[in-house]
Amino acid sequence: MSLFTETLSDGYGQSLSIDELLFEQQTDHQHLIIFRNRFFGRVMALDGIVQTTERDEFIYHEMMVHVPMLAFGAARRVLIIGGGDGGILREVLKHQSVEEVVQVEIDQAVIDLCKTFLPNHSAGAFDDPRVTINIADGMAFVCEADIEPFDVIISDCTDPIGPGEVLFSSEFYQGCKRLLNPNGVFVAQNGVVFMQPEELINTQHRLSPYFTDTRFYGVAVPTYIGGIMALAWGCDDLQISKLDISLLQQRYQASGLNCRYYTPAVHASAFHLPAYVQNLLEP
Ligand code: SAM
Repeated sequence: MSLFTETLSDGYGQSLSIDELLFEQQTDHQHLIIFRNRFFGRVMALDGIVQTTERDEFIYHEMMVHVPMLAFGAARRVLIIGGGDGGILREVLKHQSVEEVVQVEIDQAVIDLCKTFLPNHSAGAFDDPRVTINIADGMAFVCEADIEPFDVIISDCTDPIGPGEVLFSSEFYQGCKRLLNPNGVFVAQNGVVFMQPEELINTQHRLSPYFTDTRFYGVAVPTYIGGIMALAWGCDDLQISKLDISLLQQRYQASGLNCRYYTPAVHASAFHLPAYVQNLLEP
């Protein structure tokens, strides 16, 4: 039996049995492998790091999408950076208020191969008439695009190595702020705090100059090993990260969503982080 062993952390990692190798390729941008694992189902990894699995993807995609979308309320235009597997796009399109989604993904191969081997991630989302797909570097797009601003921007990128590194830079955050409507919400995946504490510290330092309210909320995703993943939040409205749970409940019920991880209570509590995480952040 061959094993996939993740290479993200030095001296600690995870191994998954490759019960069936489905596809492996060095794309123009990164090494991509998709395989079946008897516990997690189909798994995709990029440059040796697990990106998503059939079994636990709902946790990450629901929390990356429904927290900003239900906090903002009735978002019309949404920008997704990365997200080539289509899970974020699938969840965004569930919101009836959404009129247009622009997705900027650097690697066409990820979209094509995930449509083929992980079809339930996008579940047809790439064919929705509200969607525009740009195959481009997300950094260049947010810095240069001449486009109507967005209500919500979601950066669903790889870790800060390889093509994803630029998506953790000050310039990228400045570009995202440029493309946000007043009081729009920016969220980004930001690594597992216990394993990559420097990512949290760097993001707070680089994001806070552009947003009045820079904070993090947590989610525990089994295959993002090592504890809670911190999702970065940037917004100029200080209140919408602290909405009353009854309002979140009203919006959730009105949305018609039927989530497997997200609840309004989980949304509200996710912004309360453990002391060791708070202690890493500047007051
Ligand atoms: N959920 C995963 C996580 O939290 O690590 C991320 C999944 S998604 C597959 C990551 C996507 O970011 C990939 O499709 C990758 O091609 C894309 N990506 C990496 N760097 C990028 C860049 N500079 N511009 C646009 N997309 C990028």
